[in-house]
Amino acid sequence: MNLWDRRIERAQVLETEYPAAAELLHFYRQIAAFQKQVAQAFLPVSSFSFSPPELPEPLRPYLPPLLELLQRVAPPELAAAATGPWPPAPGPQSFFTQVLVQPYAESLARRTSVAPSSTRSACPFCNELPVAAILRPEGEGGKRSLLCSLCLTEWKFRRLLCPRCGEEDHQKLPVYTAEQFPHIRIEACDSCRTYVKSIDLTRNGLAVPEVDEIAALPLDLWAADHDYSKLQPNLFGV
Ligand SMILES: [Zn+2]
Ligand SMILES: [Zn+2]
Repeated sequence: MNLWDRRIERAQVLETEYPAAAELLHFYRQIAAFQKQVAQAFLPVSSFSFSPPELPEPLRPYLPPLLELLQRVAPPELAAAATGPWPPAPGPQSFFTQVLVQPYAESLARRTSVAPSSTRSACPFCNELPVAAILRPEGEGGKRSLLCSLCLTEWKFRRLLCPRCGEEDHQKLPVYTAEQFPHIRIEACDSCRTYVKSIDLTRNGLAVPEVDEIAALPLDLWAADHDYSKLQPNLFGV
């Protein structure tokens, strides 16, 4: 199945499973359907350069239809921002940019050979920070990788190592779980008070990490209440 169709379908399943994130997931599905068109359109292959919030040239034609879509389906504040003229700026504008750059960066990353493992916590393709960690089955216990917040490239990363500050002492790297999300946990660091959510594919092979990450919104709220900040927010700024 097409990558985007899998994401959309997974969001639909999670929408009924996790009512707390239903509204966000419903909105995500509409965004993802738009991103699918961007990903599938013929975009010239060039070297990837992105200096936010500037929009890369090949993506500019997609901005008006995106703004039109947002005026119809986005939450009120975002819908209002989509009616104005578009100056590259932080805030809602950077959301518009990210929606467009994400599928573009992903399709370029998939055509490039990227080092599959790295000791760095920034993406080996686009240099952005990871939005989540992924545990995949391998031998005994899961092997951890990080998932780029922008181009969704995945690279192997040591399991007991804080991607923010490099802490390696397992006593300072607590893991928090919630019954509601048996396959998602919070991997925190008490040295720098940062966390990433990890999606455990050994416990749920149907999970689509970038989508399940959005569904686990209550875990982010819990972490914020306990003075942890997320290493990198997702598309929706959570
Ligand atoms: Zn990346
Ligand atoms: Zn740390």
